[in-house]
Amino acid sequence: MIIMKFGGTSMENAAALSRLAEIVADRRPDRPVIVVSAMAGITDRLVELASLALTGAEIYLAQALEALEKRHLEALRQIGGESEARQKIEGLCRSLRELLQGIAAVGELTPRTRDAVLSFGERLSPTLAVAALRAHGLAAHELDTRHFIVTDNQFNQAQPLYDEIQPQVQQELLPAAGDGSSDNSPLAVMGGFIGATRQGVTTTLGRGGSDFSAAILGAALNAERIEIWTDVNGMLTTDPRICPTALRIKHISFAEAAESAYYGAKVLHPATLLPAMQKNIPVWILNSRAWLPGRPDGERTGTLVSSHAPRSNTLFKCISCKRGIALVDVVSTRMLMAHGYMKAIFDAFARQSCPVDMVATSEVSVSLTVADTANLPEIADELSRFAEVRYQGKMAILCMVGENIRYRPGVAARVFDALKHINIRMISQGASEINIGVVIADEDVPAAIESLHRAFFQDPDPAIFGIESSAQAVLGSN
Ligand code: ASP
Ligand code: MG
Repeated sequence: MIIMKFGGTSMENAAALSRLAEIVADRRPDRPVIVVSAMAGITDRLVELASLALTGAEIYLAQALEALEKRHLEALRQIGGESEARQKIEGLCRSLRELLQGIAAVGELTPRTRDAVLSFGERLSPTLAVAALRAHGLAAHELDTRHFIVTDNQFNQAQPLYDEIQPQVQQELLPAAGDGSSDNSPLAVMGGFIGATRQGVTTTLGRGGSDFSAAILGAALNAERIEIWTDVNGMLTTDPRICPTALRIKHISFAEAAESAYYGAKVLHPATLLPAMQKNIPVWILNSRAWLPGRPDGERTGTLVSSHAPRSNTLFKCISCKRGIALVDVVSTRMLMAHGYMKAIFDAFARQSCPVDMVATSEVSVSLTVADTANLPEIADELSRFAEVRYQGKMAILCMVGENIRYRPGVAARVFDALKHINIRMISQGASEINIGVVIADEDVPAAIESLHRAFFQDPDPAIFGIESSAQAVLGSN
């Protein structure tokens, strides 16, 4: 059994949906369970619809809703969907309209209601995928993910309750996904991103969460592999918009991919990897616009993420960057040798629910970076009671990731040599020993990446990197 997850761009219109059906047909012997995102852009539209409802912009709201419904119905018409599917889409759009009218009437949008609104993208899209599969001659049926993905009630960012998911998946999903004994057992199709609390209230796993759904289900089903279908040829060594010579990575370890995803690589949702990593299930990132039949092998396209990637002669796997962050310096001589100093600093960030990314300390100063700068003035205010605080926005973290650096001396010297023209504001070599991070001014990012890529990927190991032109490989989002 395998999981195939199709992102928004792999669902964006009738042409994409037909491709999806062809790809699934090719994988039919592997008994796929299919997880789909909302059509590209739909979740963003739903966010807008919710705020239109809140501001009482009735005419715009009606127009936007109509456009959303039309987009789904038009795709369905083009793939030759049945009238039952049409009714289903119309029914869902009616419920969405009622929900938005409710939001307009009470003038309030709670996180719980927001999740209800956002869930419609992934409740509408499986109907399209099922219609596309049937049009292609494949038996398929839609399952409601919310029966399987049981979560806590942290709306907008709900956490899966694995102990409850496991029995649900075994009892309900497994029989419905077919036992593989016949070629005609219908394929199970369901929306990603959404779940429900024990009481059955709809939740979402956070933006980009469909990958996470795929991994949760893959782990619960002990899938042979998880295929994440997107619109790029896999993970690349760096952002090709900044560095056109970026290369496809054929094989990367979970640890490396998680590190680089956290620091800005957009192809994979960072949390995606956890359930797959725990169960040691290989994850493939594949391009639905340029797919090849047969079991993926990484030779011509795709990236394999697995527990162990083979050793390579190339020092780093990739250079990722997280832009638009802020660097905060906290200095206090009063706290010299005193205990509890770090705690006091981090408490100030925690109280404002502000995650800290990178940290470097000396006895009297602590430098750290945050991506979310909204509450920095409040945090600085609190810290200024016992320390001197400076913060500066428009910064970026560059993160060079690779398991090979663990055993090689002189790596830092080579990094600094490549960056010798750039003002480095902070350095961190993580405890995992597989990444080196530097903080630089955001405006220096293109020059720094260009220079690092030239220094470290001039002679890429062909066992690990695809040497095809990266011109077609643009960095995607789904
Ligand atoms: N549709 C959701 C989003 O846009 C989830 C996903 O696509 O992964 O965030
Ligand atoms: Mg995505």
